[in-house]
This record gives sequence, C-alpha cells and structure tokens, in this order.
Amino acid sequence: MNIRQTRQRETILEILRSTHCHPTADWVYEQARKIIPNISLGTVYRNLNFLAKQNQVLRFEHDHVCRYDGYTENHYHFVCTDCGRVCDINVPIDTTLNRRVARGSGYSVSSHRAMFFGLCSECKRK
Ligand SMILES: [Zn+2]
Ligand SMILES: [Zn+2]
Repeated sequence: MNIRQTRQRETILEILRSTHCHPTADWVYEQARKIIPNISLGTVYRNLNFLAKQNQVLRFEHDHVCRYDGYTENHYHFVCTDCGRVCDINVPIDTTLNRRVARGSGYSVSSHRAMFFGLCSECKRK
C-alpha cells in the first residue's frame, strides 16, 4: 500500500472514530472529500469494506442501508422510527441472554447484537 492509500484509509478511519452518528458510506465520502478532495466514492467503499473485514469498524444494516461505526466494542443500538437516527445505548450487553439462547436452542452462542426501536428524545417532544 502506498502513502496515498494509507492516508485515505487513515482518514476514513479517523472520520468514523470521531462521530457517533453511525454514518452511511455517502456521508463518509462527503466528509472525506473535505480532507482529500480527489477521493472517489469507490475508494471510500473499498476502504470501508476492508476496515469492516478487519474489525476496525463495525458494519450493520438498517433499512437496506449499510451503516458504519468506529466504536467496535459490542454495544446496543437504538433507531428512531421517526427521524431515523441511530444512537448507541449505554446499557451493558446482557450476556445471560447468550446462555439462555444456548440452553433453549442447543447452539453454542458466542455473542449477540440488538437494535431497539422507538422515538428519540427530540422526536418524543414533538
Ligand atoms: Zn428521532
Ligand atoms: Zn454504535
């Protein structure tokens, strides 16, 4: 990987680590362009795929759109059904759920992910 490619990858990672908005690739591209004006959307996609595969960023899908998260510790998410924002939930992962599912299914369960739905505090006020 040459210096230009390294810089592109580091910039994308930096963008993801400095936001909590769980952005889409398009959003990352818009931000990356402010730093590297000639970067292409394809490059952004390629790097996001790479970073997700390396577990340096988390990737999940909501409404058929991929979103990326620079915070890679397993954590729960909340999706506002009105404005669509995705937020982290500050509640520890319930590991007893893994054991309950393992017991109930006979599978060996190593982790789980969960997404909660409802109204965010701003939309609730409306
Ligand atoms: Zn909302
Ligand atoms: Zn998150």
